[in-house]
Amino acid sequence: MAPSGQKTAKYIFVTGGVTSSLGKGIIASSLAKLLQSRGLSVTIQKFDPYINIDPGTLNPYEHGECYVTDDGAETDLDLGHYERFLNIRTSRANNITTGRIYNNVITRERKGDFLGRTVQVVPHITDEIKRNIRLLGETGEYDIIITEIGGCVGDIESLPFVEAVRQLKFELGEKDTLVIHLTLIPYLASAGELKTKPTQHSVRMLLENGVQPDIIVCRTEHPLPNDIRRKIALFCNVQVNSVIEAIDAETIYDVPLLMRKEKLDQRALYMLDLYNDQDADLDSWKEFLGHLKNPTDSITVGLIGKYVELRDAYKSIAEAFIHAGAENECKVNVEWIQSETLGDFDQVAERLRDLDGILVAPGFGERGIEGKINAIRYARENGVPFLGICLGMQCACIEFARNVLGWTDAHSSEMNPNASHRVIDMMESQKMVTNKGGTMRLGAYPCKIKKDSLAHHIYGKSQISERHRHRYEFNNEFINQFEKAGLVPTGINPETGLVEIVELKNHPWFVGVQFHPELRSTVMDPHPLFVQFVRASQVHSQDKRMVDSTAHVG
Ligand code: GLN
Repeated sequence: MAPSGQKTAKYIFVTGGVTSSLGKGIIASSLAKLLQSRGLSVTIQKFDPYINIDPGTLNPYEHGECYVTDDGAETDLDLGHYERFLNIRTSRANNITTGRIYNNVITRERKGDFLGRTVQVVPHITDEIKRNIRLLGETGEYDIIITEIGGCVGDIESLPFVEAVRQLKFELGEKDTLVIHLTLIPYLASAGELKTKPTQHSVRMLLENGVQPDIIVCRTEHPLPNDIRRKIALFCNVQVNSVIEAIDAETIYDVPLLMRKEKLDQRALYMLDLYNDQDADLDSWKEFLGHLKNPTDSITVGLIGKYVELRDAYKSIAEAFIHAGAENECKVNVEWIQSETLGDFDQVAERLRDLDGILVAPGFGERGIEGKINAIRYARENGVPFLGICLGMQCACIEFARNVLGWTDAHSSEMNPNASHRVIDMMESQKMVTNKGGTMRLGAYPCKIKKDSLAHHIYGKSQISERHRHRYEFNNEFINQFEKAGLVPTGINPETGLVEIVELKNHPWFVGVQFHPELRSTVMDPHPLFVQFVRASQVHSQDKRMVDSTAHVG
């Protein structure tokens, strides 16, 4: 029982079956949005079945973007969806991996906490999973904790998580726990039929593990007719109104409305004994969707990166453009450009000419770096709005050092530790670090913005806090030369003096940030840097059109 004034949480588990990539994160976020819009306090956590302690050491090609929370946890990209949908902040407690669970248990074993006993998956691993599930509930802040179980039911790796859900369901009781199972209803074009068998099998697999799902959410390309719903209900032991259609949507941001239409929130609340007839207030969400779907302008921005073949590697940037586009009632077309293809500057103008804005993405290592630098030079010399994020900001400093200050071998010590002008250098605090996992400068840090700067105009304030993930930094040894030549540090960390923002004088819009603004953009609170970058790109686009039409007339 929570102390008075604190909330007693109820738990919703979201499992997946048939195949991965069905969008558990979006279903969980959409349900959470609906519950939040009914006045409930909700958070979501994700359990990932892999052995890595966190995704921080994973190649983005492997697992998409690594999402960093305020408290410096390197987490799964689904946490980005949770924050973007709910406009809340998540933390380390919102993403747990098998690796972390085992690590905690083994650390305790070494300390002697289990002295004399054999440490086993059941009960020790499952106890640790349950402890982590309940941790957020015990803060007393939430009415509902939604726990997304990564992977697919039937995977060897998922078994301890499903077992923990079984135990919790039993321990906490019917009214305090709910299991939602997300499956796929494939459509066989040759037969013209929707097939329920994979769903039946996947539910049977859950049942073999002792878990009866309460609600079944069915991903489908076609509407689910009543006979199909009845069939699923019959074979899977659920009420027919607990079979929810999740039809393919035009945008992920439609899903809360689709789920409301299917009454997923009502059903969940009813089963958790929380039902009241107050409806979800989604007015501002609908307003956002209205802007998103009815743009009055359109621009094309280039996203220059080296992982562009996998869009998920830049998930938060892509979403931040959607939020900023809606805010400006402007469709933002993102052109994904592999930086390795921009290695020859003579060909860069041809390739980038049609862009209205250029964003150089975060990243690590040598590959594609010269292409990024070339793209930045093009943006700087041609007055194209430019936003450089983390490595993108570092590349802007390298480009400026080489082509404006004339230090031809300028580089980051990450790429060339022997360069004579290491304008980006390893942070002092990183020099003794040998372990790779969780050791970068991570999480939210304050930044003080200079008055009368573009950054100040963009943020409308002098004190900001933004999230970081890097080992290298602007080398303050060169700060005066940069400033005199026109690339000005306008955002500084007040405690360490680290340069967090640079901007170019005599350029319409050229900003590099050492932090990751994309991680703080949400539907209800689009990030000002993205909003203003889109606006500047719209202006650039109009100017270009004007020049083109005058050229035509002439
Ligand atoms: N590789 C650079 C660093 O570690 C930039 C990191 C990033 O872009 N997130 O400083």
